[in-house]
Amino acid sequence: MTLTRTTCPYCGVGCGILAGADGTIKGDTEHPANFGRLCSKGTALGETLDLQGRLLAPQVNGCDANWTDALDAVAQAFSTAIRDHGPDSVAFYVSGQLLTEDYYVANKLMKGFIGSANIDTNSRLCMASSVAGHKRAFGTDTVPGTYDDLEHAELIVLVGSNLAWCHPVLHQRIAAAKALRPDMRVINIDPRKTATSALADTHLRIVPDGDIALFNGLLSHLAQNGALNERYLRDHVSGAAPTIAQAQQGNPRDSGLSQAELLEFFNLWSRTEKVVTVYSQGVNQSECGTDKVNAILNCHLATGRIGKPGCGPFSVTGQPNAMGGREVGGMANMLANHLDIENPEHREAVQTFWNSPTIPTHQGLKAVDLFKGCADGKIKALWIMSTNPAVSLPDADGVAKAISNVPFVAVSDIMARTDTGDLADVLLPATGWGEKDGTVTNSERRISRQRAFLPAPGEARPDWQIICEVAARMGWKDAFNFATPADVFAEYIASAAATMTFGRDLDLSIFADADYAKLVPTQWPRNDMRFFADGKFYHPDGKARMLPISAPAPRTKDVFTLNTGRNRDQWHTMTRSGKAPRLGAHLAEPYVEIHPKDAADLSVSPDDLVELLGPNGKSVVRALITERTAKGQLFTPMHWTRQQSSAGWVNALAAPVVDPVSGQPASKTNKVTARKF
Ligand code: SF4
Repeated sequence: MTLTRTTCPYCGVGCGILAGADGTIKGDTEHPANFGRLCSKGTALGETLDLQGRLLAPQVNGCDANWTDALDAVAQAFSTAIRDHGPDSVAFYVSGQLLTEDYYVANKLMKGFIGSANIDTNSRLCMASSVAGHKRAFGTDTVPGTYDDLEHAELIVLVGSNLAWCHPVLHQRIAAAKALRPDMRVINIDPRKTATSALADTHLRIVPDGDIALFNGLLSHLAQNGALNERYLRDHVSGAAPTIAQAQQGNPRDSGLSQAELLEFFNLWSRTEKVVTVYSQGVNQSECGTDKVNAILNCHLATGRIGKPGCGPFSVTGQPNAMGGREVGGMANMLANHLDIENPEHREAVQTFWNSPTIPTHQGLKAVDLFKGCADGKIKALWIMSTNPAVSLPDADGVAKAISNVPFVAVSDIMARTDTGDLADVLLPATGWGEKDGTVTNSERRISRQRAFLPAPGEARPDWQIICEVAARMGWKDAFNFATPADVFAEYIASAAATMTFGRDLDLSIFADADYAKLVPTQWPRNDMRFFADGKFYHPDGKARMLPISAPAPRTKDVFTLNTGRNRDQWHTMTRSGKAPRLGAHLAEPYVEIHPKDAADLSVSPDDLVELLGPNGKSVVRALITERTAKGQLFTPMHWTRQQSSAGWVNALAAPVVDPVSGQPASKTNKVTARKF
């Protein structure tokens, strides 16, 4: 069996895979992300390749249609809405599952030709707070860390990150490094005890959103104990004095930790030179997610623990191509190539390169606001690609109603029946993993190829091609005249080169002469370059910024705080992972983790059903009584959809509360009441 070298379609670790049309799946020993390792989800990919449930032909108004009619309908609806109501009356909602080539043309069409920034992505739910925090501190959305750093660190601090389930191969790499170097210390900071806590030497059970009090406390401790890097601060950072003064006003006990726990953590951090702080959705998915990111970055900047091997802050992305999407600017607040919509010079550079008729001068609607725009009638035509917002966004019932309110909705998907697809006027069959070619960027800025090893099923087409065909029908054929994904990638690389004059971080010149077919996994800007090693950042004065951050007020305890997250063996709304029987065997139905004392208070016994009531909906799930979840807190997985479990899916419960800077929903701190069902 011929095996094709490709990349896993699930998480942001971006593991290399050797895949065969017969379902053979092997870890790629030559891929620097995983060196042959795979997790349960990656290993089971061969069981997910059947065509059951696939969307194999276009549909218009619920009936099978040909491509010409379907594409004409999309182009006409968008053109009419733009003509009658202006460019901001249309929107794309895209996905971190898309390949970079898909993302690039979608962003180019919306921003450069339609003239709106109303393109946002489910990556808004994933890492938008990290993007905003990086930009505030560094001047650009630069992830300085690499996976190697995890293996060279003396102390790894995992904040709001259940790496063991959500980035399992990174967890395996840390476990292997710790086995080789038992002196390596791992601290897990999380309100919930998880599989990741088992690897850690210490689990610090903070209260939800207690991160800022903790890291402000650390900064204050560093200042009081002469552990700041004064020379680094003088030469490379601004804003240190007010930031430290602000931190000193806080009370680290508001983190929920004891004095002894705080002191042990502070002392270990300040006495260890090589510290990597890994953070993920527990940090990002918060009302104060961006501030949490900056509270962490403040500590690394204050001590110069950045830009060195085994050292630095490290945001790990949830989705396979959240990084690629932000590189090409596929978010409502970004321009292509890490450039800024609000900056006239940046706009001019991108517009000149695209030779486009227009470019938006203001940010578009971020995910939650985009669907509010659908609800209130602002959006007249909506195209959703490769994602299922009618179940995955907070207030999901409200989002479904909002989508129903849009006069024209197109959905591109691989599946015939999804909660979102059922609301579409036009369904466009997309090719999926193993059937399409393109690139993805993983959490350490490594661009890898996804390669097809299966034929396109039925009439399915790759997303980039569908988008280009609609663009051509809207009158922009020449600008979207790409024959292959390699052509799209070449233009993307050229666009980055054309805009590098602004001294940005996104230097992709290493790919300028790359052979797309043979492209090997490569980090930008170069495999051997370390960001910030020279102490230079991307603000105009070359310095990083420390930002004064105040901790949120301690939470009231009158209702439960519901944390939502992933199971080890499932991915998103289980479109693919739900097909593999062995993955379903791990945790087969929706459940809620509840502390024994809370269960007793509610007279709930093991396996009883519990009703969770939120401001926008309710859910009925099985009780899993465990001390993994603290008293007053609940945890439930977010995978089940309305179609899969009409009672047990959870996203209808959540209020659409977002971080005011990043627009990322606060999916970890939903307010609910609970009772025995
Ligand atoms: Fe795929 Fe992530 Fe598992 Fe690697 S760790 S095999 S990328 S799901």
